Amino acid sequence: ELEENHFEVFLQPKISSSDRTPVGAEALVRYRSKSDTLVLPGNFLPLLEETETISLIDFYVFRFVCAKLKGWIDQGMQAFPVSVNFSVSSLMQPSFVEQLTSICETYGISPGYMEIEVTEKVHEAEGLDIKLLITKLHHAGFAVGIDDFGTEYANLGLLSEIDFDVLKLDKSMIDNIAVNPKTKTIVELISEVCHNLGINMVAEGIETEEQFQELCSCGVDLAQGFLFSRPIPTDEYETRFLTQTRDKQ
Ligand code: C2E
Ligand code: MG
Ligand code: MG
Repeated sequence: ELEENHFEVFLQPKISSSDRTPVGAEALVRYRSKSDTLVLPGNFLPLLEETETISLIDFYVFRFVCAKLKGWIDQGMQAFPVSVNFSVSSLMQPSFVEQLTSICETYGISPGYMEIEVTEKVHEAEGLDIKLLITKLHHAGFAVGIDDFGTEYANLGLLSEIDFDVLKLDKSMIDNIAVNPKTKTIVELISEVCHNLGINMVAEGIETEEQFQELCSCGVDLAQGFLFSRPIPTDEYETRFLTQTRDKQ
């Protein structure tokens, strides 16, 4: 079904908190069924995860994003970093970093445009030396983000062990921030830790202006959520969020 293009890559912008301009995006996969229904990843990724075919999707998305970025750069559009989600079974693949590097080389995309999102779960994955893997990713020029931070244990210890470039604060914390002063205190603390460790902090799942204002006052750097845009097809992303930086060739 991958070959028949049943999987589509959508992009959701990340917005700079200071001036509300789009500064990057996250790639999110969707499945287009034969009856033309768009299916969200929560409904098919768990099955693919069980059968370990999820890696095919991860690499497909990564390749698709590299190709899109290359196209946009060639057309004189602005280039911006894009984050791609990787499951534990992808990270466990032998020569994971080499595969990513080779895809970037094929499309002529600098790894600096690509951010690899992993979740807190990687810490527990048996047989995966996540510290070593992230060091290798950094050497190859990729940025690494920890996704869904705060869903499990908000493992601050992990931040001292591993050099993440980005921390994505989970929506569950954002949902609470405007109503629960304790959540705000915790987010302020995480934000301070991130700033002191040189980690960029992204808040995801922002739906209201009130949440956004609270997060700005906590010092969050980047914002992602339906308040700014839902994940959208790449064509729509291009018209809504990309600007021409030079004349088309
Ligand atoms: P995630 O990486 O944490 O992505 C953010 C999810 O939050 C996306 O759900 C996005 O649509 C949703 N979201 C963003 N802003 C808002 C908001 O304001 N309100 C609400 N209600 N939701 C918001 P989506 O696209 O359904 O993806 C779910 C999860 O599936 C992702 O969570 C990620 O863990 C996984 N996923 C998506 N694409 C891939 C992929 O290519 N590979 C792998 N391994 N996982 C993927
Ligand atoms: Mg993500
Ligand atoms: Mg997330």
